[in-house]
Amino acid sequence: MTSASCPRCGTESRRVHAWHLRRLADLPVGGRPVVMGLRVRRLLCTDVQCPQRTFREQIPALASRYARRTLRLAATIEQVAVALAGRAGAALLATLGVSVSGRVCCAR
Ligand SMILES: [Zn+2]
Repeated sequence: MTSASCPRCGTESRRVHAWHLRRLADLPVGGRPVVMGLRVRRLLCTDVQCPQRTFREQIPALASRYARRTLRLAATIEQVAVALAGRAGAALLATLGVSVSGRVCCAR
């Protein structure tokens, strides 16, 4: 099992405190939305001086911290938003199987 570094002090840890299910929306398949469930670890920071007692393992190649979408889905939404913006972008994404509001397509 690989270690992960504490976001506050940088100490590497493999000590598992708990497991969590993280749900991430991904690119649609066949026009249908895809939500993946990832089982991720909550690890204990082993530095006794660190105020961060536990932290959740991150998968930077897949999604950023606190994100509900994968990086590739977020990039696709951003590209459509840049090209079409607003309701037109939201309508195209809905056709592709990605559910977003027109407001999301306007946000940069
Ligand atoms: Zn720490």
